Amino acid sequence: MKISNFEDERVHVLDANSSVWSVIRDIAESGTQEEAFYVCDIGDIVRKHKIWKSAMPRVEPHYAVKCNDSLTVLEVLAALGAGFDCASKTEINKVLSLGVDPNRIIFANPAKPLSHIRHAGDVGVNTMTFDNEVELHKVKRLFPDAKMVIRIRCDAEIAQCQLGMKFGCDPETEAPHLLQVARDLGIDVVGISFHVGSGCRDPPVFRKAIAASRKLFDYAASLGFHFSLLDLGGGYPGGHGTSISEIAEIVNMALDDYFPDPSVHIIAEPGRFYVSSAYTLACNIHSIRAVGTKDAVTGNPTTHYMYYINDGVYGSFNCVLYDHQHVVGIPLKEFSHSKLYSSSIWGPTCDGLDQVVEQTLLPEMQVGDWLVFEDMGAYTLPVASPFNGFPIPKVHVVADENVWMLLKDILPLTEDHFVIGNIPASLKKGMDVNRDEDWSLPILPITITLPLCGDGPLIQEHVLEYVDVGPINH
Ligand SMILES: *Cc1c(COP(=O)(O)O)cnc(C)c1O
Repeated sequence: MKISNFEDERVHVLDANSSVWSVIRDIAESGTQEEAFYVCDIGDIVRKHKIWKSAMPRVEPHYAVKCNDSLTVLEVLAALGAGFDCASKTEINKVLSLGVDPNRIIFANPAKPLSHIRHAGDVGVNTMTFDNEVELHKVKRLFPDAKMVIRIRCDAEIAQCQLGMKFGCDPETEAPHLLQVARDLGIDVVGISFHVGSGCRDPPVFRKAIAASRKLFDYAASLGFHFSLLDLGGGYPGGHGTSISEIAEIVNMALDDYFPDPSVHIIAEPGRFYVSSAYTLACNIHSIRAVGTKDAVTGNPTTHYMYYINDGVYGSFNCVLYDHQHVVGIPLKEFSHSKLYSSSIWGPTCDGLDQVVEQTLLPEMQVGDWLVFEDMGAYTLPVASPFNGFPIPKVHVVADENVWMLLKDILPLTEDHFVIGNIPASLKKGMDVNRDEDWSLPILPITITLPLCGDGPLIQEHVLEYVDVGPINH
């Protein structure tokens, strides 16, 4: 069990007057922070768990590790008693290293490398999914005692990320044959799983999938199988302002209608739901280009601001490309009644693709100002790369006192995982400042000439008053 020796990797217990936003402000305005950084509130994960338990009491969550495999997230969920959905040997080992019992893990990747199947057998992770015949032959050879779960396809009409193209057999045309093959091979199939699509915006699809599962349960019984597991997969939203209550109502009713027998074990594999809103990212504006353009409505010449921030689509905002997320940059500084300008937000790398927000309205920001992005916990950090030399942001983990009191004695968490105090120790030592740079150079006001636009010739004098970057870095 890993307990970090580094104060910064521990959970910082906040005083009563502090919040995620106040911590972001403390760090950003400390004068020693330049890099982008996250604040992760584990209280938010605890709240999500309570919401899940009360919304779908019969459905046991198995957190999808791929969504955010941070040790803190896994430790908190292990302490709360959640199960885990792992897709690889490494994910399995990471969860087992926390002391989680292997029977709380489902190996929910229907297309597994051979050595991973063998490894699951070696460490006692018995339950795994399949959706094709070849997988059954692999399992027969490598781990014949596995408890197999057949993954069927049932796609949401609208979802942020569809998965059905890659995974899931057709419950009517393919599944019956696969079950016959499993029976002929002597493989034990114990239940059904599906994944309607990540970021599902079609709640009724859950009823369809549960109904299809019922039919296949009955067919399996006719072959002599005793199915006892139904796995509802992932797809539940988790950002601020979202709710799982509509999905929960549909799921609960469908379970009552199709699976009233309480001996059928119902699980799900939520990923996004648990972590999305727990993570807030703060990025620093390091460059600005003001370009002349025309107002879309009036046609009058106006200015569009391009803000360059120190995290982009190769880092945390890979979610914009891969996970189809729409992110919103909120200025940390308060602007009251400021004029809003057409703006775009760009990542720091030299790739033209590295655009975070294509078009938004923002007050006029300065170099050194911060933009804050909420709901950045799902499908961000595990995929990020330090391409072009821009580091992946560090995570500052916080919890309020109640969450600390609740979790500090539940394994794998211990008192040692926590430290009192709002801000990172490194900040006090000024460790996030890139000391190689000489920031003391004077920065002169720049006059730029906007390109011609509109009908008549127009030369617009535009003075950018750069803030002195000195205070940010010293
Ligand atoms: C990605 C994935 C999940 C998690 O999906 P969310 O939409 O984040 O809840 C669950 N199960 C499987 C098999 C997955 O691949």
